[in-house]
Amino acid sequence: MTLREIRSLIRAVPDFPKPGIVFRDITPLLAHPEGFNATIERLAEQADGTDPDAILAIESRGFIFGAALANRLALPLQIVRKSGKLPRESIAIRYELEYGHDHLEVHTDAIEPGGRYLIVDDLIATGGTAEATARLVRQQQGIVARCLFVVELSALNGREALGDLPVVSLLSF
Ligand code: AMP
Repeated sequence: MTLREIRSLIRAVPDFPKPGIVFRDITPLLAHPEGFNATIERLAEQADGTDPDAILAIESRGFIFGAALANRLALPLQIVRKSGKLPRESIAIRYELEYGHDHLEVHTDAIEPGGRYLIVDDLIATGGTAEATARLVRQQQGIVARCLFVVELSALNGREALGDLPVVSLLSF
């Protein structure tokens, strides 16, 4: 399946969740087995050479792609959640969104010093969410092996927010 075909499975929803935002809806892609499979295959290719110890998936749509990728690569899956959801000792960090702000948390023992982590989310907009996740990794003396996204909203310059971190996205809007 070509990238153009994968792209056609992402629907633009104007004015969601508020006026002026074009929401990139990945549910048609998820509902298309061949498209979803091809997406995970391409993400797996982009993980090549990064020597990761685990996938770090960001709530909530990052879980979908992160889980499938972890399964494909036979890697441990660790999850970064919105505040108050994790049951054990966690560290928290504030992050900015395209539409608001929140906190992200990870179990303290999910990130090991010196461990290499592939950060996975469905989409990078301003980069605030991924940047906060990278800070969580560094706070625990972990290493960000690469940040992987299905979609990049290039006009929002999320890559800049991530500085020197290696960033790969499959599709740019
Ligand atoms: P950001 O922190 O600005 O890079 O925002 C990325 C996070 O917000 C991702 O988890 C996305 O799922 C979500 N997000 C932000 N903007 C959009 C958008 N226009 N369409 C779909 N999801 C979005």
